[in-house]
Amino acid sequence: MAVDLPDNVLISNLDALANWCRKNSLWPMPFATACCGIELMATGASRHDLARFGAEVFRFSPRQCDLMIVAGRVVMKMLPVLQRIWQQMHEPKWCISMGACASTGGVFDTYCVVQGIDRFVPVDMYVPGCPPRPEQLIQGILDLQEMIQRQGTVAGEEFAARDRQQPKRALRELPILGQSPELRRAR
Ligand code: SF4
Repeated sequence: MAVDLPDNVLISNLDALANWCRKNSLWPMPFATACCGIELMATGASRHDLARFGAEVFRFSPRQCDLMIVAGRVVMKMLPVLQRIWQQMHEPKWCISMGACASTGGVFDTYCVVQGIDRFVPVDMYVPGCPPRPEQLIQGILDLQEMIQRQGTVAGEEFAARDRQQPKRALRELPILGQSPELRRAR
């Protein structure tokens, strides 16, 4: 007796394979602006050895990276740089906000410090602390890997909600790189 396979069997397997490849080959783009950056460097060094989890290949070209790690406070002046790097990274891509300053502005409750980078770029994982220890960042990367394995799809459907969330108030107020003034006015 012939048994028909469900339509989605092949896609499910491809998803699982793609997710396994993606999660074990994360290439981080370090965006380290302050003290949290020191812990980020320690995470990649021999004592903590991020290579055990396949995410040690730090690159300084956004076109080679798929994981942005923002470590430290971001001032308004640096924001266009952050956005440009994020836009230049290829899909699929993820973002980790490391430390209190990147996630909320930390103790720097002032006009010139961004009060949370998630107002401008979509963040997938937050690592708390001031600064977070390397073990915490590694745990954040492991959690992100689990999320990629659980939610990832070949077609990138998991990013649809994130794309819908992107035009936040702050993004509408600030110029977006590569976007014409007419389009900005129309939003
Ligand atoms: S969270 Fe703390 S350690 Fe990290 S950049 Fe801010 S002040 Fe420095």
